[in-house]
Amino acid sequence: MIHVRLPDGATRALTPASTAADLASAISPSLAKRTVAAVVDGQMADLNTPLPDGAAVELLPREDARALELIRHDLAHVLAEAVQTLWPGTKTAIGPAIEHGFYYDFERDTPFTPEDLPVIEKKMREIIAARRPFTREVWSPDAARAHFEAAGETWKLELLDAIPEGEPVTIYRQGDWLDLCRGPHMRHTGDVGGAFKLTHVAGAYWRGDATNPMLSRIYGVAFADKVALDAHLTMLTEAEKRDHRRLGREMDLFHFEEVAPGSVFWHPRGWRLFQTLIGYMRTRQEEAGYVEVNSPDIMDRALWETSGHWQNYRANMFLAQTEDDRDYALKPMNCPGHMLIYGQGTKSYRDLPLKLAEFGKVHRYEPSGALHGLLRVRSFTQDDAHIYCTPEQLTEECLKVNDLVLSIYRDFGFDDVRIKLSTRPESRIGSDESWDRSEDALSTALETAGHAYTVFEGEGAFYGPKLEYVLRDAIGRDWQCGTLQVDFNLPERFGSTYVAPSGEKLPPVMLHRALFGSLERFTGILIEHHAGHLPLWLAPVQVVVATITGAADHWAADVAETLREAGLRVETDLRNEKIGYKVREHALKKVPVQIALGVREADEQTVTLRRHGASETQTMPLSEAVTALVRDAKAHGGA
Ligand SMILES: [Zn+2]
Ligand SMILES: [Zn+2]
Repeated sequence: MIHVRLPDGATRALTPASTAADLASAISPSLAKRTVAAVVDGQMADLNTPLPDGAAVELLPREDARALELIRHDLAHVLAEAVQTLWPGTKTAIGPAIEHGFYYDFERDTPFTPEDLPVIEKKMREIIAARRPFTREVWSPDAARAHFEAAGETWKLELLDAIPEGEPVTIYRQGDWLDLCRGPHMRHTGDVGGAFKLTHVAGAYWRGDATNPMLSRIYGVAFADKVALDAHLTMLTEAEKRDHRRLGREMDLFHFEEVAPGSVFWHPRGWRLFQTLIGYMRTRQEEAGYVEVNSPDIMDRALWETSGHWQNYRANMFLAQTEDDRDYALKPMNCPGHMLIYGQGTKSYRDLPLKLAEFGKVHRYEPSGALHGLLRVRSFTQDDAHIYCTPEQLTEECLKVNDLVLSIYRDFGFDDVRIKLSTRPESRIGSDESWDRSEDALSTALETAGHAYTVFEGEGAFYGPKLEYVLRDAIGRDWQCGTLQVDFNLPERFGSTYVAPSGEKLPPVMLHRALFGSLERFTGILIEHHAGHLPLWLAPVQVVVATITGAADHWAADVAETLREAGLRVETDLRNEKIGYKVREHALKKVPVQIALGVREADEQTVTLRRHGASETQTMPLSEAVTALVRDAKAHGGA
């Protein structure tokens, strides 16, 4: 007999070579019916894998969150079978489970089109209805080679070559169809259920390398049940409507050019929005005791060697050489520049905490495939700051940053914020006492603020623990924005010190923090969160004054001037166009308030106001409109 351990601590005796399926049946027939896979000694496994003696076994029902990855991977296999049944001779490459679903890469003379997807999906549902058992087989490398050669599956031959010698070559079969696969899989194709949908096709290079042939990739999304699938599909439709790249074009905010991949060309309206964010942050930081500095964009290699970037980060840096044979790098981070500013003159404990802030533009080389509108760029502006303090001040400074960041997110309409605390990794610098102190400072700050957080053990940087702030947007997507990080490394590398009350020179504790993170990215998130309808205080053009007739031009000029004097951002539209046309055009640009002026308004010195989202227009005296708009434009916590 062999013995296995269950999660509740109970042990079970089984005959040798028993499988997880046997274990489930031995416990109860209803459990056997529900179980689709197992976790054996911490590893996901097929139900028909023999259990080793002494194994810890957990039986997984289909509803378990961990089974979702199996549903998705099983679907990738079902997709490949459907495609090869419909188009014999199509070659298969790889097909993993991914976040929200799965994909499979195929090689075919004509790439797949969206029109193929319903046909493929129908075939997949037939394969699922047939409940074909997944079976695992171990083949010799030669047998596998012979099989895939005969089948013309050249990509599988490459995958076979990559399997280290001595490792088993495993094949998963579902009926007549089979694939080279590590597994595991569920019992049969019926276990995947029906909550999936093929979403799109895309070109994809073999192994993601642009020098390799282009394959045709089919993507699908999949969930455990229809409710979750429908929620995700609704989110995708919403996300498409909110795509900041399209809205950015319609609202005339920015564009990109091939001459500067991943760098933004800001248009007047977009740049005004950007400057509104900076102005807001500058005010909040000044109130919180920060001082603003500015450091050079291009600095000598020697600095980057001191900071460690040259050794560890060079592949992501833009480098330059000059006539005098000096190597320079465009700054990928602001910290080293701030270390040099801190190092000017002697610092005493009375100077601390010293909070140096910079709206610093940094440049990082990202692979072109990773670039995505404003959300993933190669040059971006950080609302960066470094706080130098004494060990005694650390907890209080962390608490202050935490309060500031949460209050700022609230002003932008983000109330749902998740916080991650990443703690000491295996390989690290600094003493255990300093790690204790820093982790304690971060967790105490969160507990004092009464904010829940999740600990990610061992996920901190080698030089210190950190907090990450994740915003949940209006359609449920998560965006990591702010960070607060303790650093033992840089003060030591740069030999930074302060004079303690005892007269002794000590290294300061250093905090890195960014609240928006990247201004470019935050702008993209804001646009998507608000679907382009920015709150009045952020809208680059707050009011458009449009005329119905040329007879109202003078009154329009007076109205615009009065609104501008009240501090509002105003444009006039005196074109000889129909008012309906003007209204539609400014609505597309998401201008929150439109004022229409005709002969009656000009005669009576009134304005007719149309606010975004309101079905009715309102006519009122100009002074009344100014008071209401000024009040609304200041309606956020910061101003
Ligand atoms: Zn597989
Ligand atoms: Zn930094």
